Amino acid sequence: MLVVSHVSKDYESPQGSIAILNDASLAVARGEAAAIMGPSGSGKSTLLYIAGGLERPTTGTVLLNDINPYTLNDDDAAVFRGVTVGFVFQDHCLLPQLTVLENVLAPTLIDDPSQARAHVDHARSLLARVGLEHRLTHRPAQLSGGEKQRAAIARALIRRPTVLLCDEPTGNLDEHNADMVADLLVSLHSSTSVALLLVTHSSAVAGRFARRYTITNGRLVNAS
Ligand code: ADP
Repeated sequence: MLVVSHVSKDYESPQGSIAILNDASLAVARGEAAAIMGPSGSGKSTLLYIAGGLERPTTGTVLLNDINPYTLNDDDAAVFRGVTVGFVFQDHCLLPQLTVLENVLAPTLIDDPSQARAHVDHARSLLARVGLEHRLTHRPAQLSGGEKQRAAIARALIRRPTVLLCDEPTGNLDEHNADMVADLLVSLHSSTSVALLLVTHSSAVAGRFARRYTITNGRLVNAS
């Protein structure tokens, strides 16, 4: 599970220090989901990256499965993130030269080869779950925007992370595909028991989540 406690973030700039987040706290347990809304530039991505162990907060703590990733050295932190956190970004970030199945399997390449068969079975079942079972050997260029994002979601779940972090996952999609991806995330998080934290500027997407927050002037405010 994910616990963010009293996190603040300042960025240094030539013009001085800029306060982005001020005393933000939230917790997302296994099987729970929460959405963070706010206009562009309000600090949503910054908070998500801090939660995922990618951006050290200025003050405050983050616990992922009871471990503070910022106490680990860079190598250990990268390994820890790899097994604990799945990321979905606005841009699907699929590798164009790989098939859909290979893309989903890519995060498992560092695992022991004896697990390869099990990973392939898991990847196939995830791709079926996101409605892409007939696209296993297709390249990303052959997929629509919504299909690419669904493949990216399958890839984010392949290592059975405890926490799934989604940064504007529907930001590049039309309304219909955005609805499909949002519905998929809502149903997937409960069936996989992953703790899901999503940031979006879309109130329609956020509206699909029972727990909602907004960031206003650096403050994380409950908007449920
Ligand atoms: P959002 O995801 O809500 O659009 P971000 O978290 O990406 O917002 O950015 C919040 C603010 O922090 C923006 O004003 C952005 O310019 C600033 N910011 C983000 N990263 C950096 C950085 N590395 N250095 C300085 N300012 C940054």
